Amino acid sequence: MTLPLVGCGAIGEQGFDVIVIGAGISGLAAAATLAEEGARVVVLEASSRLGGRIRTDRAWGMPLELGAQWIHGPEGNIAAEPARKAGCDPSESADGGHWWRRHGVADPMLNDREWDRDCPYDRTPGMSLAVAKLLHETKIKAEEGYFPMMAAVHRSQEVYEYGAELDELDSEFYDFGEEVKGNDLVLRGGYDLLPRLYADRAKRAGAKVILESPVTAIRKGGRRLLVISNGQELSAPHVICTLPLGVLQSGKVEFDSGLIGAPAQQAIQALGMGLLDKVWLRWETPLPMEPGWHSSQDIGAHDPGAEFFFAPDLTGNQVALAFNAGKAARSLAGRSSVEKVAGVMKSLRVMFPNLPEPSDAMCTDWLSDPFTLGGYSYYKVGSTPENRWALAERQSSGLIFAGEHTDVDYPSTVHGALASGLRAAEIALK
Ligand SMILES: Cc1cc2nc3c(=O)[nH]c(=O)nc-3n(C[C@H](O)[C@H](O)[C@H](O)COP(=O)(O)OP(=O)(O)OC[C@H]3O[C@@H](n4cnc5c(N)ncnc54)[C@H](O)[C@@H]3O)c2cc1C
Repeated sequence: MTLPLVGCGAIGEQGFDVIVIGAGISGLAAAATLAEEGARVVVLEASSRLGGRIRTDRAWGMPLELGAQWIHGPEGNIAAEPARKAGCDPSESADGGHWWRRHGVADPMLNDREWDRDCPYDRTPGMSLAVAKLLHETKIKAEEGYFPMMAAVHRSQEVYEYGAELDELDSEFYDFGEEVKGNDLVLRGGYDLLPRLYADRAKRAGAKVILESPVTAIRKGGRRLLVISNGQELSAPHVICTLPLGVLQSGKVEFDSGLIGAPAQQAIQALGMGLLDKVWLRWETPLPMEPGWHSSQDIGAHDPGAEFFFAPDLTGNQVALAFNAGKAARSLAGRSSVEKVAGVMKSLRVMFPNLPEPSDAMCTDWLSDPFTLGGYSYYKVGSTPENRWALAERQSSGLIFAGEHTDVDYPSTVHGALASGLRAAEIALK
């Protein structure tokens, strides 16, 4: 059987030092780092493309991001510099304070964390954010300065940020991690140039990247680990596994018992896999709306497209991006694009009653993607940062996990995934 190789050479000889599972940003960053240090590396990727949850589509003649969209807070963000190197031409995002101003909030820079500081509800591990906020809101309802509209905005913001409902998020840890600073950047050339940069570096240093090669099992093999893919068995002393949390939770990839330690096993079940989906819409005629974020309190947070971003200035096209998150996204998973567009248009017409039908649409369905099975990880009620630490450490079997769900400082992001890949490579090199 001939496998589609992105790198050079054929996969016949068994002389690998490291097998990397998954060619998302974490796997490719690990592979590039290891190969440049002289390790013999092979990357096995299930799908027919690189990048995983960084996925750029150019069918409309411009880069449309189906997965990651922004480089969040570029100051100190380790993805910002490589993105520039990849020729991504990061430009400041147009969202700025527009969305907040529409809601009458005086300070356009007011963000979730500032709101938390202003309204410090009790954080309790194992208590859902929904309950913590309810208790807090009940307590302060009578107090001067209570801003119910702001509370409602904040409630829906979290669902979009974490891809989970407030009764699913842990009130203590839901936003645990380091803060990034600066306005978000968009990558005009397409986000996928970033994983391509790492893939090119890995290949130049001699790594093999093999597409359409789903791993079905990881087994013990004496002092080596065995990886089964497409009926072939590969072995190496180190395996870096970047399978998304949803895939790990599904049990679709078999691990020999003892390969994953008890704390990491527990972590896989304890953390949650959230969901964020996108509906891109395109019109041929100019639209009667301002560029930037739009949202309406007349639309429930669970309605499809309750938030959307109109980006003619970014793209030169009459294009809008609507988001479905949490429960709304889950209810639409597996449904047709026609249904998804109809749901979004219903919400958009609450804000813009005369909005014409779009001429084109492109919808994501990350929950139905068998190689992702969700959007990104979140702190489910009862989960803790120790869960991510348990996944970030080398397992006693030699297996090393990487991926956004294993990063304690910046989970659920591209820079967190990138950092986890670099960390995994360092562990393997020790
Ligand atoms: C809609 C959406 C919007 C987002 N927006 C942003 C954003 O604006 N900014 C930001 O920083 N982050 C954002 N993120 C999060 C970011 O995209 C992810 O955190 C990051 O890309 C994850 O990288 P990873 O390497 O951990 O996983 P992945 O990119 O998922 O890589 C894992 C790889 O493993 C492969 N795989 C799966 N199963 C197998 C198997 N059995 N065998 C072999 N390979 C397999 C997959 O195909 C995939 O290529 C967003 C995510 C989504 C879904």
